[in-house]
Amino acid sequence: HLEQVSQWEGPGRTADGHLVDVLANVQDGAGARAASSTAAEGIGLFRTELSFLDRDTEPTVDEQAEIYSQVLDAFDGKKVVIRTLDAGSDKPMRFANHPDEANPALGVRGIRIAEGNRGILYRQLDAIAAAAETTGSAPWVMAPMIATASEAEAFAADVRERGLKPGVMIEVPAAALLADRILDHVDFLSIGTNDLAQYTMAADRMSANLAGLTDPWQPAVLTLVAKTAEAGARVGKPVGVCGEAAADPLLACVLVGFGVTSLSAASAAVAGVGAKLESVTLDQCRRAAAAVLTTSSTEEARAAATAILG
Ligand code: PEP
Ligand code: MG
Repeated sequence: HLEQVSQWEGPGRTADGHLVDVLANVQDGAGARAASSTAAEGIGLFRTELSFLDRDTEPTVDEQAEIYSQVLDAFDGKKVVIRTLDAGSDKPMRFANHPDEANPALGVRGIRIAEGNRGILYRQLDAIAAAAETTGSAPWVMAPMIATASEAEAFAADVRERGLKPGVMIEVPAAALLADRILDHVDFLSIGTNDLAQYTMAADRMSANLAGLTDPWQPAVLTLVAKTAEAGARVGKPVGVCGEAAADPLLACVLVGFGVTSLSAASAAVAGVGAKLESVTLDQCRRAAAAVLTTSSTEEARAAATAILG
């Protein structure tokens, strides 16, 4: 299998030719250039906040546009999904003026920052639009921590106004449950399984003691992923996975079986995911997907998938 991994050249596809975009997660221009030397077909998650974690003041529109242009240039003409600032909780940002909160993971983070400070979102969208213009690219733009359809509606309007393609992350169980209504407003969804597991299992993703609960193989988490993928398939809109689940080759095949249309993982995991996917058929993926949804534990889910996918 190692031989196959190092030789994987893309594009992402099952053994019988079902295409799935295999993409990379990056955090800056250097990361994007490194990703472009893998067979990744684009960027499925650009975590913009990680470029600015050490800043005391908000980067200007020009400074932001320069960084976004570097990432777009690294994947010229390819799919690039830019996430707006996911500030707060495990990624506090000094310039975002977070309120003092007892439970920051349940507090003002991600898109919720924009509630009290629409300008910070507008300036970032302006910078993304400027970078799109100078590089001649058409990035997709998504918001983190969306919980309601009305948040998705407001975000989509702001993104469309700038000629960009809007989507949202599905990482709050409420959003997964109402994915069909969120899809009335946006063009694509991207499932963040790290936070979706945290919020579904009520277990801090940073706690090593609770790693068994935040395992993305938890059948409850997979049930929400499946529901989200089905909602996208019903209306023919793309649904990706960009959390750690997509970096696990076996689980990636299960996600494809749910109907997920793209997988985005750290650069180092891209070839392993692509190679595994190429070794199984879409029918195997679908059977594994159906099987894991009948299980009651992570162990049972892994065993059920292994029995079908090898
Ligand atoms: C996620 O929550 O799965 C995700 C991809 O976003 P982050 O890990 O940056 O919170
Ligand atoms: Mg997240």
